[in-house]
Amino acid sequence: MMKAGMKYKYKYADIIIEISSEKLDKPFQYRIPGELEDKIVPGAYVLVPFGKGGRQIKGYVVDISQEPKLAEEKIKDIDSLAVVDENNKCYDELIRLAVWMKRHYGGTLIQSLKTVLPVRASVKRRVKRVVYLNLEPGEAAGVHAGLLHKHQVARARVLAALMDEDGAEMSLITDKLHTTPAVINAMEKLGMVRVVSDEEYRSPDIGQVSGVKKTELNEEQAILAQEFKDDYDRGVRKTYLLHGVTGSGKTEVYMELIAHVIASGRQAIMLIPEIALTFQTVMRFVRRFGNRVSYMHSRLSAGERYDQWERASKGLIDIMIGPRSALFTPFSKLGIIIIDEEHEGSYKAENMPRYHTRETAIERARLTGASVVLGSATPSVDAYYRAENGEYRLWQLNDRAKGAALPSVHTVDLRQELLNGNKTMFSGTLTELMNGALKRREQIMLFINRRGYAGFVSCRACGYVFKCPHCDVSLSYHRSGKLKCHYCGYETPVTKICPKCNSKYVGGMKAGTQRIEAELKLKYPKARILRMDADTTSGKNDYERILKDFADEKADILIGTQMIVKGHDFPKVTLVGILAADMSLYALNYRAAERTFSLLTQAAGRAGRDERRGEVVIQTYSPENYAVASAARQDYNSFYRQEISYRTLMGYPPAAHLLKVLIESPEETYGNKIAGDIAELARTVKEAETVGPSEDTIAKLKDIYRFAVYIKCGDYEILTQIKDRIEQMRQEARDSRSRVQFDFDPL
Ligand code: ADP
Ligand code: ZN
Ligand code: ZN
Repeated sequence: MMKAGMKYKYKYADIIIEISSEKLDKPFQYRIPGELEDKIVPGAYVLVPFGKGGRQIKGYVVDISQEPKLAEEKIKDIDSLAVVDENNKCYDELIRLAVWMKRHYGGTLIQSLKTVLPVRASVKRRVKRVVYLNLEPGEAAGVHAGLLHKHQVARARVLAALMDEDGAEMSLITDKLHTTPAVINAMEKLGMVRVVSDEEYRSPDIGQVSGVKKTELNEEQAILAQEFKDDYDRGVRKTYLLHGVTGSGKTEVYMELIAHVIASGRQAIMLIPEIALTFQTVMRFVRRFGNRVSYMHSRLSAGERYDQWERASKGLIDIMIGPRSALFTPFSKLGIIIIDEEHEGSYKAENMPRYHTRETAIERARLTGASVVLGSATPSVDAYYRAENGEYRLWQLNDRAKGAALPSVHTVDLRQELLNGNKTMFSGTLTELMNGALKRREQIMLFINRRGYAGFVSCRACGYVFKCPHCDVSLSYHRSGKLKCHYCGYETPVTKICPKCNSKYVGGMKAGTQRIEAELKLKYPKARILRMDADTTSGKNDYERILKDFADEKADILIGTQMIVKGHDFPKVTLVGILAADMSLYALNYRAAERTFSLLTQAAGRAGRDERRGEVVIQTYSPENYAVASAARQDYNSFYRQEISYRTLMGYPPAAHLLKVLIESPEETYGNKIAGDIAELARTVKEAETVGPSEDTIAKLKDIYRFAVYIKCGDYEILTQIKDRIEQMRQEARDSRSRVQFDFDPL
């Protein structure tokens, strides 16, 4: 492979002189003087002459090359390396992180820089409004009961939230409690609440603190917290994986660790999947840490986001809570990064660079001397594997902090239902439980696992699924009448008869949310039904509106795809039905079982959040499948054991690494040829195993043809070298008819 021997001297450097501006895209080229040759690398901080007068300014190197972009005489020399000082320390660190991301995930440095740097945007200042309870404590409970009696549930919800808080920001309430400013204004007119405006930073957070409320940690929690503190005080930094069932008190542990880090004068980043970032979560942190907490979400405007980053870099806050992009908060003395719900797919970026938040967080922590804490009730197989190998420290919390019961789970074998003559989508058990819940006016969530139902074919009598003999993934149905493997291109004609049981119930899984809704309406003509799927959430606010209506108890049953599974607490929901637990099992990828296990475990967790113990029905064609069976028992360890032996056997991550190269072109033959060239290049590397090219899972998207090459290797470094060579080949070819993207260890 390319090793040091091939190294040649670069002559020119592209330099950005103003970070945090749109000018990121327009670097200036400078010549690298001989004495600096070895020191000028992407990310280097340098002094250069700028403008007519040759004024000396500082800039960052973003690229190096052999070719001048201008006439030689117009290119100036770099003066020298610049010294990193307090003012740019955190930007320096973020730029180093961007360089690492480019190397680790591919793409251009500009793409990485845009991901990590705050881009200045000027937007008008927003007026912050804080909502306070305007009732005496004794009075509030009565008013709350009155609202409930009048079925004014939205108002009741706001009131209940404010009874626990000393004021909360308006947008936090409307965002996270699924309500509207109109509701709050009406409550203000009635004298229930007071709204106070405040010209200030455009902070989306902020309630007031009523004094530090701190929960005494129980013994299990305290031992972990103490271990962390001892490590931290001795200067030991590592990655910890906190595996704790839902409600085991992980968040309490996070807060204790954060408090310790802040007391030492450092700062904290708390990452939460956007969908799980609830009002309750933010307020828990505000209650404990007051105004030094801020939070981010994807609906912030560019200006709001920039202000948040300014506040962080100026040291006005100590804790940033937010989704994956909050990882790049420009704190200058970061001490801890926490990633809650670490297993969530949303921690993987969808655009280039397709970074993994966990790995990137660990790299940022390494650069800055911080610790990382990962937490989950269903840790990703990747993280657990690393913890088992000693790369991370494994922590366990085995009991619910408040001793609440986990829901009771019924597994229904759909093959048996068919044998009994039930051809509907609702098993006898589910029907019985739905009847009861509707009679008691409790709410029901029906969840259909649609991901990966992209045409896999199975036998409804015995559950047999058509799979690729080479790859152990399900084959999918093509209009051509053939079954195809998207990993290796294997294909075979569709049969009408099941090869296992000879029945004729072979077909694609097509049960969509619409069909469920139609069947349900026939079954329960009086029930009020809401449906949440891609069709009903195409508008901007549809998603919020449906959740709000369900929270307002405007419906008895919510049907949805995986969108409805996470984050939201609906206390009236006592029954969760998972209609076809199998579907994600046969998704076209090696993480199918992991996804299924965590979706089922989490869906089950939606039931019975209140006093009433929840019931969960898992309907499945494969009750014996280990992902389904261990989810029904809520048994992570048994799932993990089986999954990791499968991954090891197949050479899939985390046992090995996988690089997916996606090739896109508007011309089918051309795209295929380029994909072939890439596969050929990859095949010259003997340490790696190259599969393909084949059509991508989505073979054509918006008239662009897509091809994939998969490269497997135990050594990540070799994969990045292959990526570098592909990028080099692409650069030399100057090909504008196709586009190439890299995805390391794809999800
Ligand atoms: P997780 O983050 O693991 O889901 P939480 O930290 O949210 O768990 O805790 C679940 C519930 O238990 C919360 O209401 C929390 O206040 C409570 N709790 C957690 N730890 C303790 C403790 N040591 N003593 C009392 N209550 C606790
Ligand atoms: Zn069969
Ligand atoms: Zn195959």
